[in-house]
Amino acid sequence: MAVERTLSIIKPDAVEKNKAGAILALLEESGFKILACKRTHLSRQVAEGFYAVHKARPFFGELVEFMTRSPVFVAVLERDDAVAQYRKVMGATDPAKADAGTIRKLYGGNVGENAVHGSDSLDNAKIEIAYFFPANEVAPAAG
Ligand code: ADP
Ligand code: MG
Repeated sequence: MAVERTLSIIKPDAVEKNKAGAILALLEESGFKILACKRTHLSRQVAEGFYAVHKARPFFGELVEFMTRSPVFVAVLERDDAVAQYRKVMGATDPAKADAGTIRKLYGGNVGENAVHGSDSLDNAKIEIAYFFPANEVAPAAG
């Protein structure tokens, strides 16, 4: 299985509940290397650009309001098969439908405020990582 990188965002709801550390720990325990990580408060422009693919969806306005409400943690994760493995650890979009032990089941509130974002394909992971991190800010994994 190829080593891949994916983008994670710990969303405002989870950061407000002081669960960012617990989520990062769960990711490390699940075999991900955290190659880069920063806490930032997304501007409306950055959030709208990031979620541009969802612009026509009825929940777009609500999503942008939520994502700009308070700070997030943005992180680059690496492991074998990272995109699919992180989607698995993250759980279904709706926390009520997520498997036991997943991040969204543990820390998500509802289908909108669901604790974390994860890239949905390797191509999108590359685009999303570049959206938040210049290449020189993503250090290679140690050992
Ligand atoms: P995922 O984050 O699992 O890839 P989507 O890409 O479909 O899910 O949606 C992006 C984000 O938009 C979700 O994580 C969630 O925060 C929000 N969202 C999705 N569906 C809804 C909905 N029906 N109502 C409100 N917010 C939603
Ligand atoms: Mg998505």
